[in-house]
Amino acid sequence: MKPRILIIYTGGTIGMIQDPSTRTLRPFDFSHLIDNVPKIKMLDYDIEHIQFNPPIDSSNVSPSHWQQLAWEIGRHYDKFDGFVVLHGTDTMAYTASALSFMLEHLHKPVIITGSQLPIGEVRTDGEENLITALQIAAERDPVNGEPMVQEVAILFENYLWRGNRSTKMSADNFNAFGSNNYPSLAKIGLSIHFHNEALWRVHDKLPLRVHNGLDSNVIIVYVHPGMTENVLRHQLSIPGVKGVVLKTYGAGNAPTAPWFNDAIREAVAKGLVIINVTQCPDGGVHQKRYFTGDMLARAGVISGHDITTEAALTKMMFLFGMGLSSKQVAHRLVHPICGEMTI
Ligand code: ASP
Repeated sequence: MKPRILIIYTGGTIGMIQDPSTRTLRPFDFSHLIDNVPKIKMLDYDIEHIQFNPPIDSSNVSPSHWQQLAWEIGRHYDKFDGFVVLHGTDTMAYTASALSFMLEHLHKPVIITGSQLPIGEVRTDGEENLITALQIAAERDPVNGEPMVQEVAILFENYLWRGNRSTKMSADNFNAFGSNNYPSLAKIGLSIHFHNEALWRVHDKLPLRVHNGLDSNVIIVYVHPGMTENVLRHQLSIPGVKGVVLKTYGAGNAPTAPWFNDAIREAVAKGLVIINVTQCPDGGVHQKRYFTGDMLARAGVISGHDITTEAALTKMMFLFGMGLSSKQVAHRLVHPICGEMTI
């Protein structure tokens, strides 16, 4: 049987063309994209596609697009062996993180890719990324015949990364994505070399469950020298906000000034869920290392360990979207759901 792959084209640079009047790049349709990859016929796969209408620059991505993607994957799940999502790079790590939570009991590959240069450009990275993503989506474990990748992953240039561990690292390099706290799932060179020990495996065979509820009442608060009480309190009291990703210094540290501590304590007492995520791209939060971090722990702030900002934000949207109370969300945040953090 030929591998059956569904491509979902959302937009992004990979399918963009230059607008003649403004000379800026704008998303274009899938037929233009695929016409530029004649080599795709050399893959002996059954490939079908669907596209967002209209395709978008991923700067315009919102939770409703994640719901659309999860829904499409859910309704086509049994018919295909794997899924390739073509997506802009700007918010790709957010989309990958959100989908990883929304697709419970995923046992098939969902490979997200895009490119830095449009597919129509001579030096494009789009063709190679698309072909490699399709090959990874079709790959089977030689030992048991199961899908090699059973999770949401980002393929970009030389690496395959766990989706909810990835971050866009470069606006220029072809290797645009990285994951400082988790190894790559595969290295792409002359061949595709999978790192078996890093791949997500769950041995239950429960059917896919698509969670479509997402709650956007989650914000990111970035701590910085010079932050005033007014600014912090204002953010923590935005009407409707239920969750905060608190971006702290180093190992999870924040000012010990009484106004800072009081504002955080009062917010937690009011029912706000606050997760501590480091501003450092590498390493994680250890709230008990310094007095400045311990203060947050004692105020009721949850350690995000080595989670990325993208995964912390979407995990909270997902948990609140399930209709859980603040207490339940706080409890669930402590535990990894699908490999997004190491405790
Ligand atoms: N602005 C583009 C997008 O995210 C950038 C890209 O695709 O590389 O859609």
